[in-house]
Amino acid sequence: MNSKIYFDNNATTKCDEQILNEMLPYLKEFYGNPSSIYSFGKEIKDKIKEARKNIATLLNADENEIIFTSCASESNASAIMSAAKNTNKKHIITTKVEHASIIETMKYLETKGYKITYLSVDEKGKINLDELIKSITQDTFLISIMMANNELGNIYPIKKIGEIAKKYNILFHCDAVQAVGKVKIDVKNMNIDTLSLSGHKIYAPKGIGVLYVKEGIDFKPLIFGHQEKNRRGGTENVPYIIALGKAAQMINEDNYEINKKLKYLRDKLENDIKSKIDDVVIYGDIENRLSNTSNIAFKGVKGEELLLVLEASNIFVSTGSACNSEIAEPSHVLLACNADLDNYSPIRISLGKYNTEEEIDIFVDKLIKAVTMLRKIKSK
Ligand code: PLP
Repeated sequence: MNSKIYFDNNATTKCDEQILNEMLPYLKEFYGNPSSIYSFGKEIKDKIKEARKNIATLLNADENEIIFTSCASESNASAIMSAAKNTNKKHIITTKVEHASIIETMKYLETKGYKITYLSVDEKGKINLDELIKSITQDTFLISIMMANNELGNIYPIKKIGEIAKKYNILFHCDAVQAVGKVKIDVKNMNIDTLSLSGHKIYAPKGIGVLYVKEGIDFKPLIFGHQEKNRRGGTENVPYIIALGKAAQMINEDNYEINKKLKYLRDKLENDIKSKIDDVVIYGDIENRLSNTSNIAFKGVKGEELLLVLEASNIFVSTGSACNSEIAEPSHVLLACNADLDNYSPIRISLGKYNTEEEIDIFVDKLIKAVTMLRKIKSK
């Protein structure tokens, strides 16, 4: 069997060796509690400060605006719940294509009497800013819109949304999990009030996230305690914080050069597929997507079946977001796009920095065979 081909980097990424080596001493030798006042704790504190600085640089934020959390799901819930606790207003605007950690928080708030507007998307998954403006009422206190969609790769007009939020004096939360490392983020220029990111999408381990909270916002914590300036209780996850800081440093140094490679590979993959297989549909906003993502469907072939055939060749793709893949329900993102899922049921291919051109060639070859076989079976 050929060696593993991993094309599911929007679900999670392999931990980078450099990042792993950076964090390991903080599991082995420097295991002190950063809150301790003896010097053993102080060294660790300094290293956390360095990590915070790297993340602040990544976002064009200030160090004291960075809060470490356990994951982006926690960051998302914290930002939304804090905004809700700070006002008597009851209306939030979000979109139909957000990650489950946003949608489920909104659903919870609905049970508590909040009114949520879920903006619709067109067939490409694009939102309409006029609809956003029309949805704003006197009672709106929060707009929560993702920077890039995990399933389609669509990049949303965050700067324009930030301007609208500012004009109407509404808080703007942005889930930037999928954008980090691929889209240059500037929280000041984009008028973002709170923002989430996650370590395991940028080659750091799972179980570490960040919540950016703009200076001056009265943040109400979800988890109480003295750490993170009383904004997030819990002894700091030192090794993972250091890992995330290193991941941010590597992105800052790379300066988004990785996009060239990812785009080259993704475009080659799509062009090769389209030139060799008939009746292919690519979902999403083709001109305005993340460089690494392709959500692609083959007429008459079920995405789940294709995934299993590819898995037999040690090739790993997804049918949607990882968080939904155990639920045999169609993707809420593609449903929102009104996609013809009966005929065109997709797989999501999401490339990462370790993928190679050779892997693309092997993949396309296996894919052609798999699609041909599945179509043949269906036609019998
Ligand atoms: N938001 C988006 C867009 C994501 O893709 C994910 C993970 O798939 C998350 C939030 C949640 O991140 P975490 O796994 O750190 O909770």
